[in-house]
Amino acid sequence: MQGGMMHVPLRIIEILRYAAELHPAGEIVSVRTEGDLHRESYATAYRRAAQLAHGLAGLGVTHGTRVATLAWNGYRHFELYYAISGMGAVCHTINPRLSAEQMLYIITHAQDRVLCVDTSFVPLVEALAPQLPDDLVIVVLTDRAHMPDSALDLLCYEEMLEGRPDTYDWPMMDETTAAALCYTSGTTGHPKGALYSHRSTVLHAMTVALTVPRSLHEGARILPGVPMFHVNSWGLAYAAPLVGASLIMPGPRLDGAALFELMEAERVTASWGVPTVWLGLGAEIENRGHAPATLDQLAIGGSAAPRAMISFFETRGVDICHAWGMTEMSPVGTQAQLPTGLGALDDAERLALKSKQGRRLFGVDLKIVDATGATLPQDGIATGELFVRANTVIAEYFDNATATSRAFDAEGWFGTGDVASIDPDGFLYIRDRAKDLIKSGGEWISSLDLENIAMAHPKVANCAVIAVPHPKWEERPLLVVVPRDVADPPGLDEIHAAMQDHLARWQFPDALEIVEDLPLTATGKVSKLDLRRRYAGYGLP
Ligand code: ADP
Repeated sequence: MQGGMMHVPLRIIEILRYAAELHPAGEIVSVRTEGDLHRESYATAYRRAAQLAHGLAGLGVTHGTRVATLAWNGYRHFELYYAISGMGAVCHTINPRLSAEQMLYIITHAQDRVLCVDTSFVPLVEALAPQLPDDLVIVVLTDRAHMPDSALDLLCYEEMLEGRPDTYDWPMMDETTAAALCYTSGTTGHPKGALYSHRSTVLHAMTVALTVPRSLHEGARILPGVPMFHVNSWGLAYAAPLVGASLIMPGPRLDGAALFELMEAERVTASWGVPTVWLGLGAEIENRGHAPATLDQLAIGGSAAPRAMISFFETRGVDICHAWGMTEMSPVGTQAQLPTGLGALDDAERLALKSKQGRRLFGVDLKIVDATGATLPQDGIATGELFVRANTVIAEYFDNATATSRAFDAEGWFGTGDVASIDPDGFLYIRDRAKDLIKSGGEWISSLDLENIAMAHPKVANCAVIAVPHPKWEERPLLVVVPRDVADPPGLDEIHAAMQDHLARWQFPDALEIVEDLPLTATGKVSKLDLRRRYAGYGLP
């Protein structure tokens, strides 16, 4: 028997229409590539999105057209998100840190027709130009006065909007219509595309807003430290206007000093990003002796939040919400704010729980399986590959049957490639990416466990643990350390001493290498693939 209710398709543009009508105090503050700070209300963004849609329609953009962006976090990028999807076209965010080869691959694979770029990426586009499709229309996200000199035929964003009507007849469409496209950085093989729908995006925004209210509430001022070119800034560009939080867009500068200054000047209350970004902010906080005055919560995800990092911020009055997810999941899957009712926890217990990846969002199902695919108990001990199922998880990779055929189990659950346990009370504990586990003599060692302890050592600024080949044990752990003080780096014995009470001796790293910095992936995480390549022939003592 069917319910007797209306069916109004979920559409992304409705988020902005709602914010424009009901959140008059909400604003988008952007550090512009032009060098200044720009402010606009959601009502203005809604009107400009309409003008933009008229402009894009003039370029031939229509239902299903892929419109790509190469842009920092800013209001024009935000307007593109809404105008493109609102028209029924697809907003393809390109990560500018991908290699030229990967970028060309995804532009071709996505069949992008229009490419919208910040001025700072024009040289990049000029370098790619000989291999780009001839009919690709390039729009520069600036006004006439700041248009760069270029041999390319470039359109000006502000000119495209000028004089256009500020209302648009946003088409009604099926809620499963494609809205946004994001490719995973693809550590091996070509990048793979996750094609989000209006339905998945709106549901994700609603569940994220519902689950992390400390960051996302009316009047909050949230700084997306995660780029809009990576999984829709973890949904913040949708969830913030939905609840009436303002967005403080940092533009190209994500270093500790720039973030700190912007947070203070714009009274930022929350910020979300990967651990690498928070290392920079942490160093700035140490220099100044205090955290930004209004900063209340940081969400850390994308890689494991080191325990020492959680403790650093929390002792300075900033709550940490550890979160886990992936591109294929829109991306947020779990978050580790502590629920009430856990009873009295001492500081160590609290920290241990917060450094787990947290509990599932409404609508996200988790299961762990053994090597045969059999479901394991969620008892906090059994460890296996993590599979997920949700309306916000991909059902396939975009136009990639081969990758799709490998990604799901017989019941249609998506295999994350992460190895995890789940506590009886629902806390997910990611032990490692399957490919980063160190297989030593038939046992495995979690690189994340070792990193967590090493990161807490006062002489360690940053570190990573990777497997290096070993003639007897197959693989053994190598610890690569960026020291706080190059003149006084930690020795292996000091790290072992710190591990003494936490790990069995056979799990200790066999060797330690001191480096100036660690290689990063296109999404700003430590690149273990690059490290493994660098130390491929490493001779263990
Ligand atoms: P990429 O890093 O290739 O761009 P994603 O951003 O989709 O792709 O990365 C998803 C992966 O990042 C997860 O499968 C997991 O291995 C890792 N990850 C994300 N958040 C966390 C976390 N909080 N703790 C540990 N690992 C995490």
